[in-house]
Amino acid sequence: MDAESMEKLRAIAERSRRMVFFGGAGVSTESGIPDFRSQDGLYKQKYKYPPEQILSHTFFVRHTDEFFEFYRDKMLYPEAKPNAAHRKLAEWENEGKLFAVVTQNIDGLHQKAGSKNVLELHGSVWRNHCTECGKFYGLEEILRGKGVPRCTCGGVVKPDVVLYEEPLDGGVLEASVNAIRRADTLIIGGTSLNVYPAAGLIDYFGGENIVVINKGAPMRGMDGVLFIDGKIGEVLGAL
Ligand code: NAD
Repeated sequence: MDAESMEKLRAIAERSRRMVFFGGAGVSTESGIPDFRSQDGLYKQKYKYPPEQILSHTFFVRHTDEFFEFYRDKMLYPEAKPNAAHRKLAEWENEGKLFAVVTQNIDGLHQKAGSKNVLELHGSVWRNHCTECGKFYGLEEILRGKGVPRCTCGGVVKPDVVLYEEPLDGGVLEASVNAIRRADTLIIGGTSLNVYPAAGLIDYFGGENIVVINKGAPMRGMDGVLFIDGKIGEVLGAL
């Protein structure tokens, strides 16, 4: 992160009144949660199946045991704490400068940092439901047991996480589009912009400034953006 870009970011944040943040797994790497596509991300680790396959609806239905083995081992970080990026976004919301965090993350760290209007495009590991009777379960029940988590009715308890092949929640999608449409500044961070339809949402932005804060350029090129190549916790924490 160079001083000139940081100054530009500071000025944008200062004059913005309706910021929206759109983020992904890179926002939580500084909290100790690996992303998917970095060098030490999940995709570079060796499994019997690629993570995309394990985290698919078909795999969940056909190999429920193996799904939960991977899920408990690699997707759950109940002790993780928000980092400076989560905290800055919560602070901006509190000051009335930012009105929504649209996230692809499922870790709940924005809420832990104090953000209120968090639109979780891919759900959350903190919510789980029985696939038979719909009974709600917290994360503790998933962590406590071994094997496939079962409801008192005998049904399989499934995390409220959007798996590959599953549709996004219509209400969350609509709220995210509306938030991005209304924003004067869109800050995009910690995302490869590789997962659709989530990554397509940024096209609804019609405001003044787009800022991208990412380690390395994301998959999609964008004209006229302020791109800051760096760790998002360090960048936002330095403001
Ligand atoms: P991704 O793994 O595809 O991309 C992460 C991006 O963030 C990469 O470009 C990487 O270079 C960048 N990055 C890593 N650390 C960074 C940092 N400290 N500061 C700035 N940039 C950083 O992640 P994605 O785009 O979110 O898409 C993958 C899917 O992974 C999402 O759908 C998400 O649901 C899921 N996921 C979520 C979590 C989580 O909840 N924390 C963790 C892993 C994967």
